[in-house]
Amino acid sequence: MLVVRAYKTELDLTHAQITACEQHAGAARYAYNWGLRRKQEGYQQTGTSPSAIDLHRELNALKKTTLPWMYAVSKCAPQEALRNLDRAFAHYFRRCQQKQTGQWHGNVGYPHPKSKKQGLGSFRLTGSLHIGVAAIQLPRLGRLRLKERGYLPTTPTDGVKLLSATISEQAGHWYVSVQVEQDQTAPDNAGPVVGVDLGIKVLATLSDGTVIANPKPLKLQLKKIKRLHKAVTRKHKGSNNRKKAVRKLGAQYRRVANQRANTLHRLTTRLAKTKAVIVIEDLYVAGMLKNHHLAQAIADAGFAEFRRQVTYKATWYGSHVVVVSRWEPTSKRCSQCGWRDADLTLADRVFRCEACGLILDRDLNAARNLADLARLAASSADN
Ligand SMILES: [Zn+2]
Repeated sequence: MLVVRAYKTELDLTHAQITACEQHAGAARYAYNWGLRRKQEGYQQTGTSPSAIDLHRELNALKKTTLPWMYAVSKCAPQEALRNLDRAFAHYFRRCQQKQTGQWHGNVGYPHPKSKKQGLGSFRLTGSLHIGVAAIQLPRLGRLRLKERGYLPTTPTDGVKLLSATISEQAGHWYVSVQVEQDQTAPDNAGPVVGVDLGIKVLATLSDGTVIANPKPLKLQLKKIKRLHKAVTRKHKGSNNRKKAVRKLGAQYRRVANQRANTLHRLTTRLAKTKAVIVIEDLYVAGMLKNHHLAQAIADAGFAEFRRQVTYKATWYGSHVVVVSRWEPTSKRCSQCGWRDADLTLADRVFRCEACGLILDRDLNAARNLADLARLAASSADN
């Protein structure tokens, strides 16, 4: 099966290369914001807005007159930024439609201009790309060294088709994410069925009794982040000290994001590699996020991200993900005899069955119920 997947790794850039990357990111941001304005103007004047192709043609004409500085960067950077803009609008319209039909309950995000305050940003390049063991070769930017040798699939030896490369910056570090098309055919995984209960106190409880602790990075490091935020506001706007404080704050956020991503990736890879069926609950994340006390912890644990990762990794490693409707009372049902505890609240951490006497950790009971539901579904499909 041909799948598109991305590999992201850190770059080891020289000062000249950093400047060139900043220029490319700047051109991409400029094109995106300019395109957004042009689309809005077009819509107000004629009722339709110009497409990425129209805008790219228009931008090329402007290069000759008002934007000669854009000749210094690869033409891909603004072109791909305009494509991103088209995608942002397509996404927005899809969400609007889903909201009308009741399939989506969250916010619908109208595309907004990209600000330099959010970081230097990113840009995507296509065309003549080559990956070696220690470096990647890109149009205009030349040969960029990689910090980790051998992580990216090399062309052409690994038999992958290279689609694009995206360069991005975060807190002073530069990364490249390459999108490749590769053949990934996995035989059906022979492991057991496992129910996964995602939680707030612990990240996940598996029906076999395994408990994966929650890193809860934000909660632990919230104090530090708050202090760094205060440090920023105390410094004068535009001062060097303020810039320094902003950098420190950015680095702290980056650390937290990396920890969170690392924990989730390790868990989802392990599950997809070793289990035949992974049963998860279709948590109504958007609805739960409205509850402000839970919001921090839930956003932190990254439920939606967990589901996304485990779903795509399952296709790589030959396992299956079963999503159980959120209306199934997995927490309230006894996993041994089926008795229901109608009075169970979020505060009850232990499940006590009044029918068969089972006493079990609440999350483990829920995870076992999830695994049972999958077995039930599988056996009724066989008959
Ligand atoms: Zn029972």
